[in-house]
Amino acid sequence: MNIDNRTATLKSLDKAHHLHPFTDFKKYGESGGRIITRAEHVYIYDSDGQQILDGMSGLWCCNLGYSQEKLVEAATEQLYKLPYYNNFFNCSNEPSVEMAKTLVSVTPEQFNQVFFTNSGSEANDTNIKLVHRYFDILGMPAKKHIISRKNAYHGSTIAASSLGGMNYMHEQYRGLDYVHHIGQPYWYEEGGDLSPDDFGKKVASELEQKILEIGEDKVAAFIAEPIQGAGGVIVPPATYWPEIQRICDAYDILLISDEVICGFGRTGSWFGCETYHFQPDLMTFAKGVTNGYLPLGGVMVSDKVSTVLKSKSGDFAHGLTYSGHPVACAVGIATIEILKQQKIIENLNQNIANYFQKRWNELADHAVVGQARVQGMVAALDLVKDKSTRERLAPDAEGAVFCRDVAVSNGVIVRAVDNNIISAPPIICNEAEIDMLIERLLIGLDATAKKYGV
Ligand SMILES: *Cc1c(COP(=O)(O)O)cnc(C)c1O
Repeated sequence: MNIDNRTATLKSLDKAHHLHPFTDFKKYGESGGRIITRAEHVYIYDSDGQQILDGMSGLWCCNLGYSQEKLVEAATEQLYKLPYYNNFFNCSNEPSVEMAKTLVSVTPEQFNQVFFTNSGSEANDTNIKLVHRYFDILGMPAKKHIISRKNAYHGSTIAASSLGGMNYMHEQYRGLDYVHHIGQPYWYEEGGDLSPDDFGKKVASELEQKILEIGEDKVAAFIAEPIQGAGGVIVPPATYWPEIQRICDAYDILLISDEVICGFGRTGSWFGCETYHFQPDLMTFAKGVTNGYLPLGGVMVSDKVSTVLKSKSGDFAHGLTYSGHPVACAVGIATIEILKQQKIIENLNQNIANYFQKRWNELADHAVVGQARVQGMVAALDLVKDKSTRERLAPDAEGAVFCRDVAVSNGVIVRAVDNNIISAPPIICNEAEIDMLIERLLIGLDATAKKYGV
């Protein structure tokens, strides 16, 4: 079968049999999609032969790109040695023990314990159970409510998407009644005439108001991403996190940092909470922990929480068949080894993140760009019709979708979120690859300006 036939066959079988995540089934069944066949370094290749620079690191996970030999070796070796065994019933295995130790060595000092899952969603479900058990043991069983934020993304299981603040997701199922949402620190969209610093304090104070409204004795935890990723790369004002920390401390509320995107270098530090100088009690990780090569997630549990959890006998009634999967953990250990040995994160800000920031900020001069935001290796552009009034380019994300489509067909993957274009390239990109990303994105921005007459 020649390549064209093979591609056509795959595309039609895909339309016929495969229901895709976060996809309009009706539309996809008609139009179909792109088959990705292989990847190398920071490029993906589709079955039509197009090479595309991956400005999203897969789904924010392949931070080290696609050609990490050491990860392949670690998985292969482990598959031969012990492909699977569970961590239930007082059993453990070498990679999950080593991975636990490795995670403790790179996470902030309050973290000395980990609970493994296979994904970020499961890890956030786990967070809820950990938080509930913590306050039950402390004799405060009324503390069950959890506060999150509008436009947050914490995963897509029922519990994780309840924590999330995406309206269009909430419309399709019934969420948990003990989860509440406050505003997001999205200054450009909602800050109006306030300075970023004043706005940061104002939205943080919504947490205090919400705690008082529900009752301090009923609120267990606040969960947030250091930078909201899927919500449009919402980089918070500098005043935001210190105020959140103060409020959590004042009301005995556990602080959960969802680091599924921000972890492992994305924001320029090992973890987003280090970039923003706050001390979470629980920390969710997934995605970049294995460089996306295998599914692995989990919760880092602080000494404060684990001391309480270990103070009482009785099972923690929660776990997954693949919690601490030996092969996924072997790849996780190898991923962190690469990050450590090559000092990739330590050098990021002086090197490629600095260059990325400079090039990305130049895009602010473009006619359709209202604001350029960038922190470490994650960035966004707000697309506008009018810079002075911040009037959005088009309703329903249409303008950003158009811009993204042009960019993708010109060889760079970026993502459209509402009126934002976002990017999170591999943190091992070089300057020429960043130049290529910017150049190809500019083709999209120019075409967008032309289409909308800006
Ligand atoms: C992707 C993501 C999740 C969910 O992780 P899955 O592995 O897809 O379940 C949770 N939180 C954040 C911040 C994410 O970006």
